[in-house]
Amino acid sequence: MLIRAHHIFCIQGFIGKGYSEQFIENMENIIEKLDNSDPLIEITNAPDCICTACPRLKVSDSQSGNDKISLLGCEVESEVKILDRKVADSLGIGFGKHYPYSELLKKLKYIDEEKFDYICSGCQWYSLGYCKKRIIGI
Ligand code: SF4
Repeated sequence: MLIRAHHIFCIQGFIGKGYSEQFIENMENIIEKLDNSDPLIEITNAPDCICTACPRLKVSDSQSGNDKISLLGCEVESEVKILDRKVADSLGIGFGKHYPYSELLKKLKYIDEEKFDYICSGCQWYSLGYCKKRIIGI
């Protein structure tokens, strides 16, 4: 399963809210798979299986305009790439590398409040407080 690095954090804070109904349903399905089958995760800093159902993902039809879709990136791709880098560095994981989901959860235990705020304080969901509570228990 391809997951962009900062979504490792977003998954923990998810409480059924999101950008659209389609986004929420896709996120719920992904989290169910993660929790039930501990899949191998490939870490990326580009659009992933969560982004594909997000209204903020920019896509374009192929040259002929038919069935091939190319993913151009999030409408705030440069900002989320910075988040991906911060999360990857804080967890000690690399883009293109593979990890069992359970191993990523173990790495999350080393995130403290200072690191969490450094990474997440600019996010639109930060002020709700769910992510911080679930990731570091505050
Ligand atoms: S497209 Fe952007 S806002 Fe949507 S899930 Fe992906 S990174 Fe997040």
